[in-house]
Amino acid sequence: MKRMAWTSAVAAVVLFAAGAYGAQQQDFSKVEVKTTDLGGNTYMLEGAGGNVTVAVGTDSVIIVDAQFAPMHDKLKAAIAKITDKPVKYLINTHYHGDHTGGNAAFGKEGVTIVANQNLKTRLATPPAGANGQTPAAAPAEALPAQTYTDRTTVTSGGRTAQIVHIEAHTDTDSVVYFADANVMAVGDTGAPNRFPNIALGGTINGMINGTQTYLNMANDQTKIVPGHAPVSTKAQFQAYHDMLVQIRDRVAKLKADGRTVDQAVAAKPLADLQAKVGANDMATDNLVRTVYSQV
Ligand SMILES: [Zn+2]
Repeated sequence: MKRMAWTSAVAAVVLFAAGAYGAQQQDFSKVEVKTTDLGGNTYMLEGAGGNVTVAVGTDSVIIVDAQFAPMHDKLKAAIAKITDKPVKYLINTHYHGDHTGGNAAFGKEGVTIVANQNLKTRLATPPAGANGQTPAAAPAEALPAQTYTDRTTVTSGGRTAQIVHIEAHTDTDSVVYFADANVMAVGDTGAPNRFPNIALGGTINGMINGTQTYLNMANDQTKIVPGHAPVSTKAQFQAYHDMLVQIRDRVAKLKADGRTVDQAVAAKPLADLQAKVGANDMATDNLVRTVYSQV
């Protein structure tokens, strides 16, 4: 039974890991990269893994995230169709393999990888996976050469990325804002009409505070690039933030009322939201368990 309880508690992480690392089994040769022009010499690339943001400057390029390792050549080819300028900086939104898998290849080419200090630690000394096995440490060239703690900026070719650390989806998260193009990359901290993905190092309160942090940086025209959803607006992310508050408050009330975690799950406190976002029962129950453990 002890094992069962543990399994439930980390089920959300298990599901994540299956999605992120299991995808390495997929056939990348069939993946086509789709490029979307966001204006202001800034683009979004969709392929396999988290969406990539590309900021083209006068003599160089800043990219945000690098998908899975086998996507490197395809990402490079997509960037080459936009510009002949070289990639100078790669900023990681968080440590998951579907966002950092390409680090090693870009790092080998001399691209400077920038990330929160916690991300470097996670890649250098990976935590044990849900199956109890510890993944191999990332090679040196995959590690960020430039790290920060609270906030920093990166400027290249006249383009500036404002980078702010939040602890929402994981404890390695960075939000990256290109003010000149009014484009913001928010990694896996959320997406409109989706339940939050609270992975290892993340918390529901971190999700709420983190989304509020970047909502404060955004305006009604900001184009927000989520890791795994279409480009979104501030209004859509405000609604997502407000849903997070509802989720936390409903589960916290059940806990404060003395319900056990199983009773809280059985009470189906998120039923209306589940219907709205189209989540299945297992994901919803796991979310209740995760939030219950954190409030
Ligand atoms: Zn992630």
